[in-house]
Order: sequence, then C-alpha cells, then structure tokens
Amino acid sequence: MVPKIAIIGGGAVGHYLASLLHLKDYSVTLFETKSAWERQLGTGIFSSSSIDLPILEEFSSPHQITSLKLFSPSGKSATMELPQSYRLYTPEDLEEALKERFKDFEGRVISGRVLEVKRVEGMWQIHTPEGVHEANFIIGADGISSLVRKSLGFLYPAENITMEVSVELPQDLGQEATIQFFDNIPGYFWIFPRMGRTVAGLWGTSQFLQARHLFEKMDILINNTLQVPVAAGIQRHVAHLPTFGKFTPREVAGAGWALVGEAAGLIDPLSCEGLYWALKSASLLADSFDQKSFSAKRYLGSLSREVIPSLRKRQFLRKILYRSWVLNWLIPKVESKRRTQHFFRTQFLPSTC
Ligand SMILES: Cc1cc2nc3c(=O)[nH]c(=O)nc-3n(C[C@H](O)[C@H](O)[C@H](O)COP(=O)(O)OP(=O)(O)OC[C@H]3O[C@@H](n4cnc5c(N)ncnc54)[C@H](O)[C@@H]3O)c2cc1C
Repeated sequence: MVPKIAIIGGGAVGHYLASLLHLKDYSVTLFETKSAWERQLGTGIFSSSSIDLPILEEFSSPHQITSLKLFSPSGKSATMELPQSYRLYTPEDLEEALKERFKDFEGRVISGRVLEVKRVEGMWQIHTPEGVHEANFIIGADGISSLVRKSLGFLYPAENITMEVSVELPQDLGQEATIQFFDNIPGYFWIFPRMGRTVAGLWGTSQFLQARHLFEKMDILINNTLQVPVAAGIQRHVAHLPTFGKFTPREVAGAGWALVGEAAGLIDPLSCEGLYWALKSASLLADSFDQKSFSAKRYLGSLSREVIPSLRKRQFLRKILYRSWVLNWLIPKVESKRRTQHFFRTQFLPSTC
C-alpha cells in the first residue's frame, strides 16, 4: 500500500522533506502550528555543507565571513583569516530557497497545532483543533518538544538539554565572527555578522543554567566585545536544544513512523547547530522511501554511516575540549599553528564536518 504520509512540524526541515517526498509522488500532508516560519536567530549554515546538500546551491547570495576571533576562558584572544569558501547561508536564505521549492505544495499544509497523535488499528490519527486527520505513516519533524516522539514514549535525557539565548543587533559590525569560551562549561558566546546587522548569542549545557543569568552574561559580553550596549526592549530569544547523546535506532524509526532533525536528537554536541543535521536526516529519510514503501533499516543504516559517526566524534571532542586548561593552551597557538587553525575552523564554524 502506498503510504499516506503526515509530517508533523513544518519548519524549514519539514518543508524540505515534504518537497522531497512530493517529488517522489507521495501523498504528503504537512501540519504546522505557526502561520509564518519562525526565524531562528542563529548564525546559519556554512557553504562547505553544500558538498553533500545540493539544496544549498539554490541559495542566491550567501554572506561572507572573512575572519574568526577566538577568546579562551582566561581571556586570551587569537584571530584567523578564513578562506573565501567560508560563506554563510542565513536561515532567511534557507527559508527563501525552500519556499521557492515548495510553492506548488501549498494545498496540503494544515495550519494549527497538532494536539495529539494516536495509532489505531495501524492508522495514525492526527488531532488538530479543526478535526481528526488520518495517515498510515507519520514523520516527526516537530523539534525539541516533538509530540510524535513523546507519543512514541521516548524522552530526551535531561543531561543532553542545552539552553541558548540570542539577540539581533541593528549594527553592522563588519565580517568578523567571534567565539568566546567559558570556564569548564560546554558552550560559548558567539557573534556572527549578517547583512547590515549582527546576531549574538550564548549557549551552555549545565543543569544549573537559568535563562535570566545567560541573558545577563550575554549583555555583558556584547558590551565588552563590541562596545555597544544591548538596547532596552530589544527582542530576546531563549531556546532549549537536545544535543546529541546516544544513538538508539529504535527511538528514531520503526514500522509506520520516523523522526528527523531535533526530534531525532540530531544536534551537534560541539557547536549546538542543528540545521545541517536536520536537512541531512530529511534527505536520507526521503531516500529511504522507495518503490512506494519505506525501509526503516535503510534510513537507520544511512544515519549510522553518514551522520552518527560525525556526531559521535564531536561528542568525544566535546568531552576533551570544554575544559579551561585545554582551551587556554590551544587558543594562543591558533595564530602560529596551521593545524590548530584548521581544527577550530572545521569544528566551530557551523555545519562543517
Ligand atoms: C535560537 C536558535 C538559534 C539556532 N541557530 C542555529 C544556527 O545558527 N545554525 C544551525 O545549524 N542550527 C541552529 N539552531 C538549531 C536549528 O534551528 C534546529 O536544529 C533546526 O531548525 C532543526 O529543525 P527541526 O525541523 O528539527 O526543528 P524546528 O526547526 O524546531 O521545527 C519544528 C517545527 O515543528 C513545529 N511544531 C512543533 N510542534 C508542533 C505541533 N504539535 N503541531 C504542529 N507543528 C508543530 C514548530 O512550529 C516548528 O516549525 C538554532 C536553534 C535556535 C532555537
């Protein structure tokens, strides 16, 4: 039987997946709670990801970042020039490209929060405020608070939840990106230029973190680093992200269901970035629908080969790197040692794996 697919979560990744499955002639319905796509205030995704994500080639004008400045926890700094290939695709670029790709698909988007998903006699019932919809295959592309994941009975381990705060500043502060590490906490403060403005934020993984404290710390860091105060009343964002922990295949796909992106726990444990991994998992999932059926084995096999090894490597690096003495020792070497430069460039500019 040809699966009738319901994708819960129509963020950039849900839309991307829907367009891929639509191209394969599947009947797809996308459920999204927001009327407009939420603009993440993140840095974006780097051009090097386009090597295996051709969709990035569709973006019109990526922004270039020319240098990266690193600060160790003890306050020592080092700057490195970046090769020309370091272009940044912002979430807005992504949104534009996906909307273009998705423009013929408007009819099958159901707006409104999915309140409940239930499996009854092999069919999924999807409850929305407007009524109940049915599908025989369900995909959770619904982010950290994934209802699909919860309905299947899987929770993220508390120690993998990271908090991120961010703000967009109206100033144009050039083409330099900054990353500043903290004492013994996985996480960092970041500043990335956008066209004519700047985004800054801070993330950390610790059960003791509170959003209020992170905002206070971020404001001080912005003031110290950029010499610009964060204006009162400026819109601030706070988010929780499930960084990658352990890969448990039976919690990612099975008969009649699959998870992608954050819902599958695919967030980089070193840089806390998720767009690349989410798009990659969506593309692997679409490839696992063949001849009108889905192979969970194929999807899990592709993830195990093409995604999980990189995330595991980065999880290992996270354990070693996020210690003050390691960063205090490494960062001053950046300006003189090409290998150290290469290490920071490839590990900390988002989505370069
Ligand atoms: C502030 C912030 C900054 C970030 N910056 C970056 C960055 O610079 N680079 C990067 O690579 N990653 C970044 N990330 C992470 C990245 O945005 C996510 O990892 C990526 O978007 C994952 O996509 P997703 O589809 O899994 O989840 P999401 O993008 O969260 O999409 C989930 C979608 O599901 C919808 N949804 C949820 N529940 C329901 C429901 N019950 N019914 C209907 N719809 C529902 C939501 O409205 C949302 O649109 C950032 C995240 C945050 C929060």
